[in-house]
Amino acid sequence: MTRLILLGPPGAGKGTQAKLLSDICSVPHISTGDILRSAVAEKTELGQKAQQYMSAGELVPDELILNLIRERLSQPDAQKGWVLDGFPRNVPQAEFLDKLLDEIDQPFDFVINLDVPDEVIVSRLIKRGRQDDAEDIIRHRLEVYRQQTEPLIDFYRSRQRLVSVDGNQEMEAVNADLRKVVEG
Ligand code: AMP
Repeated sequence: MTRLILLGPPGAGKGTQAKLLSDICSVPHISTGDILRSAVAEKTELGQKAQQYMSAGELVPDELILNLIRERLSQPDAQKGWVLDGFPRNVPQAEFLDKLLDEIDQPFDFVINLDVPDEVIVSRLIKRGRQDDAEDIIRHRLEVYRQQTEPLIDFYRSRQRLVSVDGNQEMEAVNADLRKVVEG
């Protein structure tokens, strides 16, 4: 049983590493960004509401995200564990997650923070070339990260569930460090 929360700035390699970890641990990779991008592509009601925030590099309002996570974590495949990527993104989401995990009796094992310096992030994201990866939007997403998401590092550190991993290495090296964490 593995339940992991991955934290880190945009471009830290969370998506790639979350996918690798979910394969290693045989649990689903749950990415709110991926779920939202599919909703946008399928033009669902959620997608239509989320799109403007995503392309501006803003967080989608919590009311669109919280039920989505509650439903996703209640799916049968999530009962054997999960790797959460992109959620929680602010303190209210983290508090919601605490309550939810308590309610469904599924405590997480670790919060892993992928640490990457700002200059590296911007150049990585420009190379990635996703629709929300234009340079001004990248800088805005970093600001949103600093203001809303970075406080989660202290939120989890104070509860001694936080592990920091150097994300400024080759993908394989980051993955090896992460494996050490999950394999104890
Ligand atoms: P990501 O792929 O995780 O970088 O997410 C892409 C975009 O989806 C973000 O810039 C936000 O607009 C939105 N998003 C993803 N996860 C969340 C979340 N937990 N809360 C609010 N917005 C989110």
